[in-house]
Amino acid sequence: MIEPKNCWIEVAKDSDFSIYNIPFGIFSTPTKSKRVGIAIGSQVLDLEAAYQSGIFDCFMDEKAFIVSVFRNSYLNNFISLGKKITSKLRIKIQEELCDPDSKINHPKFFEALNDVQMHIPVQVGDYTDFYSSIEHATNVGSLFRDPENALLPNWKHMPVAYHGRASSIIGTEIPIHRPKGQTKAPTMDAPIFGPSKRLDFELEMGYIIGSQTELGHSVSSEEAENYIFGKVIFNDWSARDIQQWEYVPLGPFLGKNFASSVSPWVVTMEALEPFRTSGPNQDTAVLPHLKAVGLRNYDIALEVSIQPQDSVESTICNSNFKFMYWNMAQQIAHHTSNGCNLNVGDLFASGTISGSTQESYGSLLEISKAGKTPHELASGHIRSFIEDYDTIRMRAYCIKGGLRVGFGSVSTQILPAL
Ligand code: MN
Repeated sequence: MIEPKNCWIEVAKDSDFSIYNIPFGIFSTPTKSKRVGIAIGSQVLDLEAAYQSGIFDCFMDEKAFIVSVFRNSYLNNFISLGKKITSKLRIKIQEELCDPDSKINHPKFFEALNDVQMHIPVQVGDYTDFYSSIEHATNVGSLFRDPENALLPNWKHMPVAYHGRASSIIGTEIPIHRPKGQTKAPTMDAPIFGPSKRLDFELEMGYIIGSQTELGHSVSSEEAENYIFGKVIFNDWSARDIQQWEYVPLGPFLGKNFASSVSPWVVTMEALEPFRTSGPNQDTAVLPHLKAVGLRNYDIALEVSIQPQDSVESTICNSNFKFMYWNMAQQIAHHTSNGCNLNVGDLFASGTISGSTQESYGSLLEISKAGKTPHELASGHIRSFIEDYDTIRMRAYCIKGGLRVGFGSVSTQILPAL
Protein backbone atom coordinates (compact mmCIF):
# COMPACT_ATOMS: atom_id res chain seq x y z
CA MET A 1 0.00 0.00 0.00
CA ILE A 2 1.28 3.46 -0.83
CA GLU A 3 1.13 6.23 1.77
CA PRO A 4 0.61 9.40 -0.31
CA LYS A 5 1.16 11.57 2.75
CA ASN A 6 4.74 10.32 2.84
CA CYS A 7 5.35 11.29 -0.79
CA TRP A 8 8.64 13.23 -0.70
CA ILE A 9 8.13 14.94 -4.05
CA GLU A 10 6.13 18.13 -3.99
CA VAL A 11 2.97 17.74 -6.07
CA ALA A 12 0.61 20.70 -6.48
CA LYS A 13 -3.08 19.95 -5.76
CA ASP A 14 -4.07 20.74 -9.35
CA SER A 15 -1.24 18.72 -10.92
CA ASP A 16 -2.25 16.08 -13.47
CA PHE A 17 0.71 14.01 -12.37
CA SER A 18 -0.21 12.99 -8.83
CA ILE A 19 1.20 9.97 -7.00
CA TYR A 20 -1.93 8.08 -8.18
CA ASN A 21 -1.05 8.59 -11.84
CA ILE A 22 2.58 7.66 -12.77
CA PRO A 23 2.19 7.99 -16.57
CA PHE A 24 4.96 6.77 -18.88
CA GLY A 25 6.55 8.83 -21.64
CA ILE A 26 9.68 9.37 -23.74
CA PHE A 27 11.83 12.41 -22.99
CA SER A 28 15.23 13.83 -23.85
CA THR A 29 17.42 16.71 -22.63
CA PRO A 30 20.40 18.44 -24.27
CA THR A 31 22.65 15.86 -22.53
CA LYS A 32 20.38 12.79 -22.39
CA SER A 33 19.21 10.84 -25.42
CA LYS A 34 15.60 9.68 -25.66
CA ARG A 35 14.57 7.47 -22.75
CA VAL A 36 11.61 6.38 -20.64
CA GLY A 37 10.44 8.55 -17.77
CA ILE A 38 7.44 8.98 -15.52
CA ALA A 39 5.88 12.34 -14.65
CA ILE A 40 5.37 13.25 -10.98
CA GLY A 41 4.29 16.80 -10.06
CA SER A 42 6.48 19.14 -12.09
CA GLN A 43 9.30 16.58 -12.39
CA VAL A 44 10.28 13.70 -14.62
CA LEU A 45 11.87 10.63 -13.04
CA ASP A 46 14.52 9.18 -15.38
CA LEU A 47 13.85 5.42 -15.26
CA GLU A 48 17.25 4.52 -16.64
CA ALA A 49 18.91 6.42 -13.79
CA ALA A 50 16.43 4.87 -11.35
CA TYR A 51 17.35 1.44 -12.71
CA GLN A 52 21.06 2.16 -12.09
CA SER A 53 20.22 2.96 -8.45
CA GLY A 54 19.15 -0.65 -7.96
CA ILE A 55 15.52 -0.03 -6.99
CA PHE A 56 14.33 -2.41 -9.71
CA ASP A 57 16.69 -5.24 -8.69
CA CYS A 58 13.67 -7.14 -7.38
CA PHE A 59 12.61 -7.54 -11.03
CA MET A 60 15.84 -9.21 -12.11
CA ASP A 61 14.33 -12.66 -12.28
CA GLU A 62 11.79 -11.38 -14.81
CA LYS A 63 13.95 -12.46 -17.72
CA ALA A 64 12.88 -9.80 -20.21
CA PHE A 65 13.63 -7.00 -17.76
CA ILE A 66 16.75 -5.31 -19.08
CA VAL A 67 17.87 -1.71 -19.01
CA SER A 68 17.46 -1.33 -22.77
CA VAL A 69 13.69 -1.05 -22.32
CA PHE A 70 14.39 2.26 -20.55
CA ARG A 71 17.16 3.58 -22.82
CA ASN A 72 14.86 3.56 -25.80
CA SER A 73 13.20 5.99 -28.22
CA TYR A 74 9.78 4.37 -27.74
CA LEU A 75 7.75 2.65 -25.02
CA ASN A 76 7.02 -0.41 -27.20
CA ASN A 77 9.66 -2.69 -25.63
CA PHE A 78 8.65 -1.62 -22.14
CA ILE A 79 4.96 -2.25 -22.90
CA SER A 80 5.91 -5.64 -24.39
CA LEU A 81 7.08 -6.78 -20.92
CA GLY A 82 3.37 -7.27 -20.25
CA LYS A 83 0.97 -5.78 -17.76
CA LYS A 84 2.04 -8.21 -15.03
CA ILE A 85 5.48 -6.57 -14.96
CA THR A 86 4.67 -2.99 -15.99
CA SER A 87 1.91 -2.70 -13.44
CA LYS A 88 4.15 -4.10 -10.66
CA LEU A 89 6.82 -1.65 -11.72
CA ARG A 90 4.40 1.29 -11.56
CA ILE A 91 3.45 0.31 -7.99
CA LYS A 92 7.15 -0.05 -7.09
CA ILE A 93 7.74 3.54 -8.30
CA GLN A 94 4.81 4.77 -6.21
CA GLU A 95 6.23 3.00 -3.14
CA GLU A 96 9.70 4.47 -3.68
CA LEU A 97 8.25 7.98 -4.08
CA CYS A 98 6.48 7.50 -0.74
CA ASP A 99 9.55 6.18 1.10
CA PRO A 100 11.80 8.98 2.38
CA ASP A 101 14.68 6.48 2.63
CA SER A 102 14.41 5.52 -1.05
CA LYS A 103 17.65 5.36 -3.03
CA ILE A 104 16.09 7.67 -5.64
CA ASN A 105 15.37 10.42 -3.09
CA HIS A 106 17.99 12.65 -4.75
CA PRO A 107 17.71 15.40 -7.40
CA LYS A 108 20.12 13.55 -9.73
CA PHE A 109 17.34 11.13 -10.69
CA PHE A 110 14.98 13.91 -11.83
CA GLU A 111 14.59 16.56 -14.50
CA ALA A 112 12.20 19.52 -14.41
CA LEU A 113 9.24 18.90 -16.74
CA ASN A 114 9.80 22.39 -18.16
CA ASP A 115 13.36 21.52 -19.16
CA VAL A 116 12.77 18.26 -21.03
CA GLN A 117 11.68 17.68 -24.58
CA MET A 118 8.81 15.21 -24.89
CA HIS A 119 8.46 12.86 -27.86
CA ILE A 120 5.79 10.65 -29.36
CA PRO A 121 5.59 7.86 -26.75
CA VAL A 122 5.12 4.80 -28.97
CA GLN A 123 6.11 3.66 -32.42
CA VAL A 124 2.64 3.20 -33.84
CA GLY A 125 2.25 0.04 -35.92
CA ASP A 126 -1.31 0.22 -37.13
CA TYR A 127 -3.80 2.96 -36.45
CA THR A 128 -7.58 2.57 -36.45
CA ASP A 129 -10.04 5.40 -35.95
CA PHE A 130 -13.50 4.58 -34.63
CA TYR A 131 -16.60 6.74 -34.92
CA SER A 132 -18.14 5.87 -31.57
CA SER A 133 -19.81 9.04 -30.26
CA ILE A 134 -23.49 9.02 -31.16
CA GLU A 135 -23.74 12.80 -30.87
CA HIS A 136 -20.82 13.31 -33.27
CA ALA A 137 -22.05 10.70 -35.76
CA THR A 138 -25.52 12.26 -35.68
CA ASN A 139 -24.18 15.80 -36.11
CA VAL A 140 -21.89 14.85 -39.00
CA GLY A 141 -24.57 12.71 -40.67
CA SER A 142 -26.93 15.70 -40.53
CA LEU A 143 -24.36 18.15 -41.90
CA PHE A 144 -22.88 15.90 -44.63
CA ARG A 145 -25.99 13.95 -45.62
CA ASP A 146 -29.54 14.02 -44.28
CA PRO A 147 -30.82 15.18 -40.84
CA GLU A 148 -33.72 12.71 -41.18
CA ASN A 149 -31.35 9.73 -41.51
CA ALA A 150 -28.25 10.99 -39.80
CA LEU A 151 -27.15 7.57 -38.51
CA LEU A 152 -26.65 4.92 -41.18
CA PRO A 153 -28.43 1.58 -40.53
CA ASN A 154 -25.29 -0.22 -39.29
CA TRP A 155 -24.25 2.38 -36.70
CA LYS A 156 -26.01 0.96 -33.60
CA HIS A 157 -25.03 -2.60 -34.50
CA MET A 158 -21.25 -2.23 -34.66
CA PRO A 159 -18.52 0.28 -33.71
CA VAL A 160 -17.89 1.70 -37.20
CA ALA A 161 -14.23 2.50 -37.98
CA TYR A 162 -11.63 2.98 -40.73
CA HIS A 163 -7.94 2.10 -40.97
CA GLY A 164 -5.83 5.25 -40.83
CA ARG A 165 -2.16 5.93 -41.45
CA ALA A 166 0.57 5.57 -38.81
CA SER A 167 3.42 7.47 -40.55
CA SER A 168 1.90 10.91 -39.94
CA ILE A 169 1.05 10.45 -36.25
CA ILE A 170 3.11 13.06 -34.40
CA GLY A 171 3.88 14.14 -30.83
CA THR A 172 3.04 17.39 -29.10
CA GLU A 173 4.39 20.80 -30.16
CA ILE A 174 5.23 19.67 -33.67
CA PRO A 175 3.77 22.25 -36.07
CA ILE A 176 2.06 21.06 -39.24
CA HIS A 177 1.44 22.74 -42.57
CA ARG A 178 -2.09 23.25 -43.85
CA PRO A 179 -2.74 20.33 -46.19
CA LYS A 180 -3.41 20.78 -49.89
CA GLY A 181 -5.83 18.65 -51.82
CA GLN A 182 -8.62 18.24 -54.29
CA THR A 183 -11.91 19.85 -53.38
CA LYS A 184 -15.21 20.55 -55.06
CA ALA A 185 -17.80 22.76 -53.40
CA PRO A 186 -21.40 21.80 -54.34
CA THR A 187 -21.64 25.08 -56.29
CA MET A 188 -18.61 24.27 -58.47
CA ASP A 189 -18.71 22.44 -61.82
CA ALA A 190 -15.27 20.86 -61.49
CA PRO A 191 -12.79 20.17 -58.67
CA ILE A 192 -9.78 22.37 -57.92
CA PHE A 193 -6.45 21.67 -56.17
CA GLY A 194 -5.10 23.91 -53.40
CA PRO A 195 -4.77 24.52 -49.63
CA SER A 196 -7.72 23.25 -47.58
CA LYS A 197 -10.11 26.05 -46.61
CA ARG A 198 -11.87 23.93 -43.99
CA LEU A 199 -9.16 22.67 -41.68
CA ASP A 200 -10.53 21.21 -38.44
CA PHE A 201 -9.52 19.36 -35.28
CA GLU A 202 -11.24 16.28 -33.85
CA LEU A 203 -11.19 15.84 -30.06
CA GLU A 204 -10.49 12.15 -29.46
CA MET A 205 -8.77 9.81 -27.05
CA GLY A 206 -6.45 7.05 -28.23
CA TYR A 207 -5.43 3.82 -26.55
CA ILE A 208 -2.27 1.78 -26.96
CA ILE A 209 -2.52 -1.95 -27.50
CA GLY A 210 -0.30 -3.69 -24.93
CA SER A 211 -0.22 -7.29 -26.04
CA GLN A 212 -0.37 -9.11 -29.34
CA THR A 213 -2.75 -11.72 -30.70
CA GLU A 214 -2.29 -14.45 -33.28
CA LEU A 215 -3.73 -13.98 -36.75
CA GLY A 216 -7.11 -15.70 -36.81
CA HIS A 217 -7.69 -15.23 -33.06
CA SER A 218 -10.62 -13.15 -31.79
CA VAL A 219 -10.60 -11.29 -28.46
CA SER A 220 -13.86 -11.47 -26.52
CA SER A 221 -15.36 -8.30 -25.12
CA GLU A 222 -14.81 -9.80 -21.64
CA GLU A 223 -11.03 -10.16 -22.09
CA ALA A 224 -10.57 -7.09 -24.33
CA GLU A 225 -9.47 -4.67 -21.59
CA ASN A 226 -6.44 -6.87 -20.83
CA TYR A 227 -5.11 -5.81 -24.23
CA ILE A 228 -5.02 -2.08 -23.43
CA PHE A 229 -1.83 -0.62 -21.92
CA GLY A 230 -3.01 2.97 -21.53
CA LYS A 231 -4.53 6.07 -23.03
CA VAL A 232 -3.48 9.34 -24.65
CA ILE A 233 -5.24 12.46 -25.95
CA PHE A 234 -5.61 12.30 -29.73
CA ASN A 235 -6.24 15.14 -32.19
CA ASP A 236 -7.36 13.67 -35.52
CA TRP A 237 -6.70 16.57 -37.90
CA SER A 238 -9.31 16.74 -40.65
CA ALA A 239 -9.64 18.76 -43.86
CA ARG A 240 -13.40 18.87 -44.25
CA ASP A 241 -13.45 20.11 -47.86
CA ILE A 242 -11.06 17.37 -49.01
CA GLN A 243 -12.94 14.79 -46.91
CA GLN A 244 -16.37 15.71 -48.28
CA TRP A 245 -15.32 15.35 -51.94
CA GLU A 246 -13.27 12.14 -51.53
CA TYR A 247 -15.06 10.02 -48.92
CA VAL A 248 -17.68 8.23 -51.05
CA PRO A 249 -17.44 5.26 -51.58
CA LEU A 250 -14.33 4.10 -49.69
CA GLY A 251 -14.19 6.49 -46.72
CA PRO A 252 -11.60 8.86 -45.26
CA PHE A 253 -8.23 9.18 -47.01
CA LEU A 254 -6.26 12.38 -47.74
CA GLY A 255 -8.68 14.53 -45.75
CA LYS A 256 -7.42 12.72 -42.64
CA ASN A 257 -3.98 11.17 -43.11
CA PHE A 258 -1.83 14.33 -43.31
CA ALA A 259 -1.42 14.40 -39.49
CA SER A 260 -2.78 13.29 -36.10
CA SER A 261 -1.28 14.56 -32.82
CA VAL A 262 -0.94 12.53 -29.60
CA SER A 263 -0.17 13.68 -26.05
CA PRO A 264 3.23 12.66 -24.63
CA TRP A 265 2.25 10.84 -21.41
CA VAL A 266 0.53 7.45 -21.57
CA VAL A 267 -1.82 7.13 -18.59
CA THR A 268 -2.16 3.46 -17.64
CA MET A 269 -5.50 1.69 -17.33
CA GLU A 270 -4.57 0.98 -13.69
CA ALA A 271 -4.42 4.73 -12.99
CA LEU A 272 -7.82 5.22 -14.69
CA GLU A 273 -9.51 2.40 -12.74
CA PRO A 274 -11.08 4.69 -10.05
CA PHE A 275 -12.80 6.69 -12.79
CA ARG A 276 -14.79 3.88 -14.37
CA THR A 277 -18.42 4.75 -14.99
CA SER A 278 -21.40 3.55 -16.98
CA GLY A 279 -21.92 4.57 -20.60
CA PRO A 280 -24.97 5.73 -22.54
CA ASN A 281 -27.82 3.25 -22.81
CA GLN A 282 -27.42 1.11 -25.95
CA ASP A 283 -31.07 0.96 -26.92
CA THR A 284 -30.57 -1.39 -29.87
CA ALA A 285 -29.62 -4.93 -28.86
CA VAL A 286 -26.09 -5.87 -29.95
CA LEU A 287 -24.97 -9.28 -31.18
CA PRO A 288 -23.61 -11.61 -28.45
CA HIS A 289 -19.92 -11.07 -29.31
CA LEU A 290 -20.30 -7.31 -28.75
CA LYS A 291 -22.02 -7.54 -25.36
CA ALA A 292 -20.00 -5.83 -22.62
CA VAL A 293 -21.64 -5.58 -19.22
CA GLY A 294 -20.54 -3.55 -16.21
CA LEU A 295 -18.85 -0.16 -15.99
CA ARG A 296 -17.04 0.14 -19.31
CA ASN A 297 -16.72 3.90 -19.72
CA TYR A 298 -14.38 6.34 -18.00
CA ASP A 299 -15.13 9.78 -16.57
CA ILE A 300 -12.39 11.84 -18.25
CA ALA A 301 -12.97 15.58 -18.66
CA LEU A 302 -11.80 16.91 -22.03
CA GLU A 303 -11.07 20.47 -23.15
CA VAL A 304 -10.08 22.11 -26.43
CA SER A 305 -8.71 25.62 -26.86
CA ILE A 306 -7.70 27.80 -29.81
CA GLN A 307 -4.89 30.32 -29.49
CA PRO A 308 -4.56 32.64 -32.49
CA GLN A 309 -1.09 34.04 -33.12
CA ASP A 310 -0.10 36.83 -30.68
CA SER A 311 -3.30 36.32 -28.72
CA VAL A 312 -4.62 34.42 -25.71
CA GLU A 313 -6.02 30.92 -25.47
CA SER A 314 -9.85 30.54 -25.64
CA THR A 315 -11.60 27.34 -24.60
CA ILE A 316 -14.09 26.23 -27.26
CA CYS A 317 -15.10 22.77 -26.10
CA ASN A 318 -15.72 20.92 -22.81
CA SER A 319 -16.55 17.28 -23.40
CA ASN A 320 -16.09 13.95 -21.60
CA PHE A 321 -14.88 10.50 -22.61
CA LYS A 322 -17.86 8.96 -20.76
CA PHE A 323 -20.18 10.13 -23.58
CA MET A 324 -18.85 7.35 -25.88
CA TYR A 325 -21.69 5.13 -27.11
CA TRP A 326 -19.37 2.22 -27.99
CA ASN A 327 -16.76 1.34 -25.35
CA MET A 328 -13.19 0.12 -25.84
CA ALA A 329 -14.04 -3.51 -25.00
CA GLN A 330 -16.64 -3.54 -27.78
CA GLN A 331 -14.25 -1.84 -30.19
CA ILE A 332 -11.53 -4.47 -29.63
CA ALA A 333 -14.03 -7.35 -29.81
CA HIS A 334 -15.36 -5.97 -33.10
CA HIS A 335 -11.87 -5.25 -34.51
CA THR A 336 -10.67 -8.82 -33.87
CA SER A 337 -13.98 -10.60 -34.60
CA ASN A 338 -12.78 -11.55 -38.09
CA GLY A 339 -9.38 -12.76 -36.89
CA CYS A 340 -7.48 -9.51 -37.58
CA ASN A 341 -4.46 -9.61 -35.24
CA LEU A 342 -3.28 -6.99 -32.76
CA ASN A 343 0.32 -5.85 -32.19
CA VAL A 344 1.93 -4.01 -29.29
CA GLY A 345 1.96 -0.32 -30.19
CA ASP A 346 -1.19 -0.35 -32.29
CA LEU A 347 -3.18 2.81 -31.69
CA PHE A 348 -6.97 2.79 -31.60
CA ALA A 349 -8.73 6.15 -31.45
CA SER A 350 -12.26 6.78 -30.24
CA GLY A 351 -13.57 9.06 -32.92
CA THR A 352 -14.59 12.63 -32.13
CA ILE A 353 -16.07 12.86 -28.63
CA SER A 354 -19.06 15.20 -28.66
CA GLY A 355 -21.67 15.62 -25.97
CA SER A 356 -25.28 16.67 -26.41
CA THR A 357 -24.73 20.43 -26.03
CA GLN A 358 -23.11 22.96 -28.37
CA GLU A 359 -20.36 23.62 -25.74
CA SER A 360 -19.37 19.96 -25.86
CA TYR A 361 -19.01 19.53 -29.63
CA GLY A 362 -15.59 18.06 -30.39
CA SER A 363 -14.94 19.64 -33.81
CA LEU A 364 -15.33 23.03 -35.50
CA LEU A 365 -17.47 21.34 -38.17
CA GLU A 366 -20.10 20.83 -35.47
CA ILE A 367 -19.44 24.07 -33.54
CA SER A 368 -19.78 26.26 -36.65
CA LYS A 369 -22.38 24.01 -38.34
CA ALA A 370 -20.09 23.51 -41.34
CA GLY A 371 -19.28 27.22 -41.42
CA LYS A 372 -22.86 28.50 -41.29
CA THR A 373 -22.60 29.85 -37.73
CA PRO A 374 -19.07 31.23 -37.20
CA HIS A 375 -17.98 31.04 -33.57
CA GLU A 376 -16.68 34.01 -31.59
CA LEU A 377 -13.75 33.09 -29.35
CA ALA A 378 -13.33 34.65 -25.90
CA SER A 379 -10.33 36.45 -27.44
CA GLY A 380 -12.71 38.18 -29.88
CA HIS A 381 -11.50 36.29 -32.97
CA ILE A 382 -14.11 34.67 -35.22
CA ARG A 383 -13.59 31.07 -36.36
CA SER A 384 -15.53 28.78 -38.69
CA PHE A 385 -12.45 26.64 -39.26
CA ILE A 386 -8.79 26.83 -38.23
CA GLU A 387 -6.66 29.68 -39.57
CA ASP A 388 -2.92 29.77 -40.21
CA TYR A 389 -0.78 30.16 -37.08
CA ASP A 390 -3.62 29.07 -34.75
CA THR A 391 -2.50 26.70 -32.00
CA ILE A 392 -4.96 23.99 -30.91
CA ARG A 393 -4.46 22.57 -27.42
CA MET A 394 -6.33 19.63 -25.90
CA ARG A 395 -6.34 18.69 -22.22
CA ALA A 396 -7.76 15.70 -20.35
CA TYR A 397 -8.06 14.89 -16.65
CA CYS A 398 -10.06 12.86 -14.14
CA ILE A 399 -11.14 14.16 -10.73
CA LYS A 400 -12.89 12.19 -8.00
CA GLY A 401 -12.85 13.24 -4.36
CA GLY A 402 -9.28 14.27 -3.63
CA LEU A 403 -7.95 12.18 -6.51
CA ARG A 404 -6.62 13.79 -9.69
CA VAL A 405 -5.16 11.86 -12.61
CA GLY A 406 -4.50 13.82 -15.79
CA PHE A 407 -2.96 13.56 -19.21
CA GLY A 408 -1.35 17.00 -19.51
CA SER A 409 -1.95 18.35 -22.99
CA VAL A 410 -1.23 18.02 -26.69
CA SER A 411 -0.72 21.18 -28.69
CA THR A 412 -0.13 21.80 -32.38
CA GLN A 413 0.32 24.98 -34.39
CA ILE A 414 -0.92 25.23 -37.96
CA LEU A 415 1.49 26.80 -40.46
CA PRO A 416 0.56 27.98 -43.97
CA ALA A 417 0.50 25.41 -46.77
CA LEU A 418 3.90 24.66 -48.32
MN1 MN B 1 -11.50 10.96 -36.34
